[in-house]
Amino acid sequence: MQQPSLAVIGAGPGGLYAAREAARLGMPVTVFEKNTVGEKLNCAEGFFDSLKLLAPPAQGVRCKVQEVRFAAKDTFAMDCSGLNLWIIDRQEWQKALLEEVRALGCRVHELSPVTPEQLAMLEREFDWVIDASGVSALKNKQLAGSAGQHILTAQYTLGGDFSDQFGKLRVVFEPNYCGYYWIFPKSAGQANVGLAWIGKKPAGLRISHELKRIVDKEGLRGYAILKKAGGPIPTARQKAVLGRTLLVGDAAGLASPLHGGGIDTACISGILAARAASTGNPMQYSQSLEKVLAVRLNLEQKILNLWKKLSFTELNGLLSLVFGNQLRRFACLLKYRTFWPEMAALRSLTSGYLKAEWQNPLHPDILTANFRIVTDEPEEDKKVCLK
Ligand SMILES: Cc1cc2nc3c(=O)[nH]c(=O)nc-3n(C[C@H](O)[C@H](O)[C@H](O)COP(=O)(O)OP(=O)(O)OC[C@H]3O[C@@H](n4cnc5c(N)ncnc54)[C@H](O)[C@@H]3O)c2cc1C
Repeated sequence: MQQPSLAVIGAGPGGLYAAREAARLGMPVTVFEKNTVGEKLNCAEGFFDSLKLLAPPAQGVRCKVQEVRFAAKDTFAMDCSGLNLWIIDRQEWQKALLEEVRALGCRVHELSPVTPEQLAMLEREFDWVIDASGVSALKNKQLAGSAGQHILTAQYTLGGDFSDQFGKLRVVFEPNYCGYYWIFPKSAGQANVGLAWIGKKPAGLRISHELKRIVDKEGLRGYAILKKAGGPIPTARQKAVLGRTLLVGDAAGLASPLHGGGIDTACISGILAARAASTGNPMQYSQSLEKVLAVRLNLEQKILNLWKKLSFTELNGLLSLVFGNQLRRFACLLKYRTFWPEMAALRSLTSGYLKAEWQNPLHPDILTANFRIVTDEPEEDKKVCLK
């Protein structure tokens, strides 16, 4: 039987994973990419598959992250040895994916931006369309845009001596805004250093000035600025099925509302959308997104809602509960007992196995999450095979 045809708009992680999965399922696939694949990237290049659903990236890995250091009033180390967290070279990774996709028989047209008018034509010409066009969300633009929640970012790629920090990520919270800045070394001589602003920006503060201040504060002044990047990351989930078009990744607002990471959710949603298109059942896509990603994204949103209300001291308390040593955690346990659900959720999110149910704070999973998540394997029925 002839398989339905698929057009994919955008060859970022979401589009490339969708195209590869669809081609593996036997669908004829055509990809349209506005730029050259892997060019004009905007990313800190941390790939955190927090749900452990994806196979490790086959190409482009610079290191498996050993540790993340979080700093607020105190500094906390999160051991990453059990996590699927890598620093990648996204250009190399995406170019390798492009080769794979081509080898599977997909037609890829680079330097081919799709306009809203052309999208309407593609919808007539192909059985299914996957909109993986990222933050500019072609399909939503066609529908007069969507005012959503965004995380604002600014980033420098710096050249200099990062040899002591390679393999370790640094995430710093500051008292004057809800957000964080990061130092993600990509090699001994290069790092992505950026700032994410979540929610309302304090009046009068400019994100680019703030980034310069951080570079000075971290003693990185004089390091060569190799590249400037940044922009919004959409974190408000959109309707993922619009007629015969399925939206994936940033186009569907699937990045983490808590930290803005969206590579993993783009890949996962790309795979799920391709599977739904191959069976001709778009509702399967909405349902599987709900099943696979909604719990995690909802947990992150709830943690964010709490974070927005916390003083800096309280934020430090929450971090102590989650990442502090036994003594520190014990000391904070009673003082911050109202944070227990968020603490359990954050521990489960950063352990690699999402266990806790948010809906009922008295659910035994939440109460015992602290003790179970680090050691437990996910139950078989909670695993979804996307590898
Ligand atoms: C500064 C910054 C740092 C980030 N750091 C991280 C990080 O460390 N880890 C992480 O997980 N996430 C990070 N993110 C978020 C992450 O980059 C995105 O969530 C992720 O790239 C989404 O993948 P996507 O495939 O949906 O979209 P994209 O990667 O944006 O890909 C969309 C593709 O569609 C193409 N396109 C757009 N419009 C059209 C059109 N009309 N026609 C044809 N092609 C089109 C684009 O050229 C692009 O290639 C960061 C974002 C920013 C801004």
